[in-house]
Amino acid sequence: MAKREIRKEGDEVLRKVTKPVEEINKKILQLVDDMLETMYGADGAGLAAPQVGILKRICVIDVGDGPVVLINPKKLNESGEQIQAEGCLSIPGIWGEVKRPDRVTVEALNRKGEKYTIEGTGMLARAFCHEIDHLDGILFTDKVIRYVELDKVKDRDKDKA
Ligand code: ZN
Repeated sequence: MAKREIRKEGDEVLRKVTKPVEEINKKILQLVDDMLETMYGADGAGLAAPQVGILKRICVIDVGDGPVVLINPKKLNESGEQIQAEGCLSIPGIWGEVKRPDRVTVEALNRKGEKYTIEGTGMLARAFCHEIDHLDGILFTDKVIRYVELDKVKDRDKDKA
């Protein structure tokens, strides 16, 4: 495994729409491993492939319950509403409140290429939305309601993705 460079806001790769993964081969699995290592190394809660310069529909998430790998994720359902502060590994030092659904169901492929569905509430639901937005070239700052100071963000909400 190897850490990859995290692309920062201003890099046009972050604004591109990604392409579905057609075949889960060694290269894709290596990318997934590298993304996990990069996310953990940066103390992040999520990372999407464009953040390491790859225009494929892959993201990894860990909001504290273990790694979730989403290949070609699709939102099946969303409900409720939450407003919480978010940060992004590609936009260091900036925090802002974003309105997201409180419950999100996602269908994706796992690393074996098997289709599965996963439901997330709260932080996980937010991470699904934040990461899937990255796959469509959308950054959380596009949706911020209000920027906040880092020291006013509650500890459990200090998740960069
Ligand atoms: Zn992000």
